[in-house]
Amino acid sequence: MLNDHIEKILIGEDEIAAKVMELGKEVSADYADKDLVIVNVLRGGVIFVSDLIRKMSIPVTVDFMAISSYGPSTESSGVVRVIKDLEENIHDRHVLVVEDIIDTGLTLGYLLKNLSSREPASLSVCVLLDKSARRILDNLPIKYKGFDVPDAFVVGYGLDYRQKYRNLPYIGILKKSIYDFDLKDQLT
Ligand code: 5GP
Repeated sequence: MLNDHIEKILIGEDEIAAKVMELGKEVSADYADKDLVIVNVLRGGVIFVSDLIRKMSIPVTVDFMAISSYGPSTESSGVVRVIKDLEENIHDRHVLVVEDIIDTGLTLGYLLKNLSSREPASLSVCVLLDKSARRILDNLPIKYKGFDVPDAFVVGYGLDYRQKYRNLPYIGILKKSIYDFDLKDQLT
């Protein structure tokens, strides 16, 4: 069973739901009467964004981008390629980027540079998890933040390990044996 692969639950389902509700209210109050475009980054952020927009009480447009970073899957290289671009024109519109997790910040830094060149009316970030211990890029416009997480690789609520575990309803740390098993797998 999926739960048996988890060493520790860091943030439970109820705690996530309460935070998402709070963030939805805050965003709604701040962007009332504004033309808001929510930009979500596939695939890790989809569960968060779909819960978040349903807790918002203002009209919003939602659009998606897909980017891929080069290098090993658990480390950010900062070199990013756009695989799927936005369909919306964001010029003169208020943009809120909704992300699952910020680690080094390199991926988000690249994305923000890309988006700001399109001259939105404003550009801010809403992130569920902040792993600030590993931050390299520090001047990111994080307007809303869910939780701080320690320097560990987390899965669940949209976040994957090798494309699995996104469907866990909570955020947790994988058992070391899962990584060790995969490592053996790669060596043979
Ligand atoms: P950054 O460029 O900020 O270092 O990395 C951001 C991306 O790396 C995230 O959008 C996510 O895809 C991935 N990432 C960073 N830390 C974790 C983690 O603890 N768990 C998972 N599943 N992905 C992570």
